[in-house]
Amino acid sequence: MLRILEEHRTGTVRVVGAGHSWNGGIETSDALLDLSHFRRIQIHSDSRRVSVGGGCRIAELLAHLGRRGLTLSSIGLIARQTVAGAVATGTHGSGRHSMSHYVESVRIACYGKEGEAEVRTVDSGQALRAARCSVGALGVVLEVTLKCVPQYYVRERCVWRPDLDAVLDNESAAPLQQFYLIPHTWAYLEHERSVAPDNRRSGGAMLYRAYWLVVIDVLLHLGIKLTASLLRSRRLVDFIYRRLLPVCIFPKWQVTDRSDRQLLMRHDLFRHLEMEVFVPGERLRPALDFVSAVLRAADNADYEVSAGVCDRIGAVEMRDSFARIRGSYSHHYPVCVRRVRPDDTLISMSSCHGVERQDWYAISLITFTEPRLPFRNVARFLATTMVRSLDARLHWGKWHPLEARQIGDSYPGLAAFQAICAHFDPQGVFRNRFLEETIFRTSGHDNP
Ligand SMILES: Cc1cc2nc3c(=O)[nH]c(=O)nc-3n(C[C@H](O)[C@H](O)[C@H](O)COP(=O)(O)OP(=O)(O)OC[C@H]3O[C@@H](n4cnc5c(N)ncnc54)[C@H](O)[C@@H]3O)c2cc1C
Repeated sequence: MLRILEEHRTGTVRVVGAGHSWNGGIETSDALLDLSHFRRIQIHSDSRRVSVGGGCRIAELLAHLGRRGLTLSSIGLIARQTVAGAVATGTHGSGRHSMSHYVESVRIACYGKEGEAEVRTVDSGQALRAARCSVGALGVVLEVTLKCVPQYYVRERCVWRPDLDAVLDNESAAPLQQFYLIPHTWAYLEHERSVAPDNRRSGGAMLYRAYWLVVIDVLLHLGIKLTASLLRSRRLVDFIYRRLLPVCIFPKWQVTDRSDRQLLMRHDLFRHLEMEVFVPGERLRPALDFVSAVLRAADNADYEVSAGVCDRIGAVEMRDSFARIRGSYSHHYPVCVRRVRPDDTLISMSSCHGVERQDWYAISLITFTEPRLPFRNVARFLATTMVRSLDARLHWGKWHPLEARQIGDSYPGLAAFQAICAHFDPQGVFRNRFLEETIFRTSGHDNP
């Protein structure tokens, strides 16, 4: 590894994990490293920490931990990512911190003061906060030590809620909940989830797994792909959400199963594009009002948005952009909302560095339609307005249409992060165009 870094010390070095990010994080015209052989897993004797090679897939780590009655504190919707890739981008699930928060130390191959390649172990202070979510800017992550916890079981069911208040009223009873704002009907569907009192699988759990795989992960997604992307029929998409989805949801069917079985989905079966916007908890309500109003206006040019939404758009001088996206794109996938606890990091999306310590909510926008341009225009509009008026932040591992000068104010930890990068990579070898644009080039004019 050090030899490779020495050989490319005047070029650009990036690492590819599982390649599951929707942005240019892995792009380089010089060296691209694949760490798939760095997969060693070592559980520490206290059974509270696990050290794992950066190239190990999360699924492999979960299986290894599971055989010893352990698991990770937090995982996303899929487990195909590498540990280093997921940590590098603040990958998260719902109701817990992001995976980055649970990182206790990191071994990084980087550059010393004179530009010589070296390996450092980072296990405390600001450097650890930077390394916990680094988007690969500190160097090549060889090994990560993460907290692990005893295996737990999750009880869940899917239940319709009349409005956002009803969803949030249930949050303390179901702290792992995630919920969906359904396009066309704009109804709220809660994935009610909590840690089960004991580790016992319910009788119907296998049937539930099969139902979820066949009906939701495959058939529903196939239906959306077919109607929205291939047939381009707004009417049929509307039919799916008004008529079919309600009969596929069984609110009384409550199931308890092992945490990784419940929390993971086969969300990777159909190719899509995703942008995810994080807002602080106190901004969730206006943020969801805003997202649903903009998506409705994008779907129907005559849709009248409220005075509050109009004022928000006017206040950030985005009226012309709004006029351009009206009637241009029909959103066709549930908007998933997940609560992420505040992270002790510098730049993960729910970092609490320099801001009031509160939960964040990740609002996900997914499209299956191609060409992607109409979605990208709407998503860019949402990102720009929400960063300016709702203190929003964008997921580092998803589509990221904004530049550092536009998002800099959202991350009070960004300057400290940049300073730490300079100690690990004085020549900027680990910076590619994506990193320059989104993290390092913080000055310049802002022309959305
Ligand atoms: C179907 C699907 C579902 C998803 N679900 C979720 C979810 O539920 N929650 C969530 O938060 N995210 C989710 N994501 C996003 C995903 O978790 C992140 O994009 C994650 O970074 C992907 O990991 P990867 O191993 O594919 O990394 P890559 O995409 O390969 O790399 C991500 C970044 O990390 C850097 N990197 C990777 N390995 C290293 C290393 N060893 N050293 C230094 N830098 C490195 C890369 O250069 C790049 O900048 C999902 C993505 C997909 C495709």
